[in-house]
Amino acid sequence: MSRPLTGKVVIATHNAGKLAEMRELLAPFGVQAVSAGELGLPEPEETGTMFAENAAIKAHAAAEATGLPAFADDSGLCVDALDGAPGIFSARWAGPTKDFSGAMARIFSELDRRGAQDRRAHFVSALVLAWPDGHTELFEGRVFGDLVEPRGSAGFGYDPIFRPEGHDRTFGEMSAEEKHGVDWQRGQGLSHRARAFVELSRACLAPRA
Ligand code: IMP
Repeated sequence: MSRPLTGKVVIATHNAGKLAEMRELLAPFGVQAVSAGELGLPEPEETGTMFAENAAIKAHAAAEATGLPAFADDSGLCVDALDGAPGIFSARWAGPTKDFSGAMARIFSELDRRGAQDRRAHFVSALVLAWPDGHTELFEGRVFGDLVEPRGSAGFGYDPIFRPEGHDRTFGEMSAEEKHGVDWQRGQGLSHRARAFVELSRACLAPRA
């Protein structure tokens, strides 16, 4: 049985791009979101080997530190011809200076090094809601597509090289609304995070205000 989420929730991320997306998604449900960054919480080490494990580590750490329910996302880009890399290491490929131009170039140089023609890739988002008493809910979303030369400057991270299936433009060329907005009539979203969030909202959030 899923547990409803009401009142205040900590968004356990220090990533400004993800925080902005999550805030926009939560706003219509009357849930008040504070971020781990604003509360000065330390970033726990992500020692898991799967997205869901790392999201759980972050959500539990924030729930324990604050006594509030906490919400964490672990996400990344998985490239088929690179056996799923960068995957859970997506942020780390950009290094401490968050050099995503370098990380995107590395993807193409690794593909070239392997002589790979296959450009298929997908983003994954694992969302975990954790309560201070240890109760946990997990939701996952994926969006499939292919990799192209960088285009557009919207979004963050690997957005400029990812073109979702059925679209001509990359995430970097889409507005925030197009990328992660949810069509609540149909219960559909495009991005991996929007898709995971639709699942979460069905299970744990009250109908939209
Ligand atoms: P996390 O904070 O460990 O989940 O890092 C996820 C990393 O995956 C981010 O820093 C980005 O590099 C990448 N990533 C996840 N979601 C997206 C997205 O929607 N667009 C572009 N890059 C993303």
